Amino acid sequence: MASAVSIRPRVAMRPAPGFRSGVLDAADSGTRELLEDLLSGDMKTTGAASVTASGARALSKNATWLPAGRTCPGRSSVCYGADHLQCYAAVLERARPGSLARAADRRLAIWDDALAANKGKELAFELLKYVWDRQLSRGITRPTFRLHASGDFYSAAYATAWDIALRLAGSGLYQWVNRDHGPIPLTTWTYTRSYGSVAGDIAARLLDAEGAPAPGFTLYLSSDESMVARTRNAVEGRYHRLPVAVMADDADHGADLLRQIRGTDTRRTLVCPVDSGRMGHVVESRGETVGACYKCRACLPVSGIDSAPDIIFPIH
Ligand code: SF4
Repeated sequence: MASAVSIRPRVAMRPAPGFRSGVLDAADSGTRELLEDLLSGDMKTTGAASVTASGARALSKNATWLPAGRTCPGRSSVCYGADHLQCYAAVLERARPGSLARAADRRLAIWDDALAANKGKELAFELLKYVWDRQLSRGITRPTFRLHASGDFYSAAYATAWDIALRLAGSGLYQWVNRDHGPIPLTTWTYTRSYGSVAGDIAARLLDAEGAPAPGFTLYLSSDESMVARTRNAVEGRYHRLPVAVMADDADHGADLLRQIRGTDTRRTLVCPVDSGRMGHVVESRGETVGACYKCRACLPVSGIDSAPDIIFPIH
């Protein structure tokens, strides 16, 4: 079992509904069970996948999945069809109400309990440590963490908890050192619509005075054709350091939307190879079967937020 150099002292907390332990530490089996519940397998981003006759699946969990829509205060009109949410996450939750949707509800309850107990930042930080250690234990040498394969920063308290945890993780105070592999950072990223007045600018809580998110954390402004004005205002103001991920009909449509958003202040742009059909959700990399993002890493630059490209996601 790989082991991290962990922060001490342990974080003591009062038991709250949904918590099975009074101590939030991954050395405790109740906490490990809780952290495991918070994670979701994500085929596109996982560092270990398998392909069988029944399809591909993630062997290593490296993402979170909160209830679609309910945890998305910045959802747009494109997120809705005629009368209901039509994003991929909502479609999957409707197809699997007893498993996927119920697990998402459970995760939201855990976060709400932690925030009510003023332990959100501790829970977030323990989750970062846990997901890092768990991947190394599987032999995954470049561990990643995708916040919100479904859902978003749904409250100011929740966003602040993640900001504190991610800044501690990226501060150098916590050393991502593994006994077997030496220093290995955890790379984290997400896409958010929790910006602009419609979302109460919750995502601004993840930025410092210079407009940067935590070191090692890439925060994308997610957008679509119904959000051009909102995203343009964002990148012209508080969110000027952040890259944009735009959902579009195709690459040309995406490039046009980015022109409307950025004007002449352009940024390097890539079309997601998966959503444009050039790469499968699961691929081979160095003899291993992994999620596409684990190999591609365009959205996970190690050289800082300013080097992250804008991404076009062609949604067919
Ligand atoms: S561009 Fe690359 S890293 Fe970003 S979502 Fe697509 S496959 Fe993943």
